[in-house]
Amino acid sequence: MKTIGVIGGMSWESTLVYYRLLNQYTRAKLGGHHSARLVLYSVDFAEIEQLQQQGNWEQTAIILTQAAQALEAAGAELMLIATNTMHKVAAEVQDAINSPLLHIVDALAEAILQQGHSAIGLLGTRFTMEQEFYRKRLEQHGITVLTPSASTRECIHDCIFNELCQGQFTAAAKQAFLSSCDELHAQGADGIVLGCTEIGLLLQQDDTPIKLYDTTEIHAAAAIKAALS
Ligand code: GLU
Repeated sequence: MKTIGVIGGMSWESTLVYYRLLNQYTRAKLGGHHSARLVLYSVDFAEIEQLQQQGNWEQTAIILTQAAQALEAAGAELMLIATNTMHKVAAEVQDAINSPLLHIVDALAEAILQQGHSAIGLLGTRFTMEQEFYRKRLEQHGITVLTPSASTRECIHDCIFNELCQGQFTAAAKQAFLSSCDELHAQGADGIVLGCTEIGLLLQQDDTPIKLYDTTEIHAAAAIKAALS
């Protein structure tokens, strides 16, 4: 079993989910008392969040690269950035380490294509919904990406930072996310990507008949598959 390096804390609410899923999937595959071999570097999210707002991605790349190098020094053989948004600097992180970085979009694209879907609705931070780094990589896999209207994107983004990343999960927020799923489905999305690692804490598949792609689950499952191959 390869040792997984997890760059987490963005937010820690979702890193907890990663930790649980990595262990549950390992148990499901290996049985008994097996658990995931991993090392975690959990950053201070306040620092990252501020740099995101300032558009200072260079500095976030430095912080994540140092985290990845520390994880490698601690024995990591396979790297995860446990957030969608920070894949903005995935290339810089990969360039600075020897072990492979398992890109969340590649794992996601594989799951979408396996379902035979070709058009998806994307929910996430405004960086993820609006910038090229995420959408373009999905499109390179032949997937059409739909995003909600500008006002809905703003509402989703604010909810992620002001509520979900602070551990608040309200019925009103859930309704807002469900409405945006409906909006995107009506526009032709075959399924909806929960493209932010906290959304799965608010919304689950049982809440809607529309196919949901939970990136935390997909990324963790792909990591265990790679760690055990
Ligand atoms: N965890 C979120 C994501 O998956 C947002 C936090 C962040 O900005 O990194 O994008």
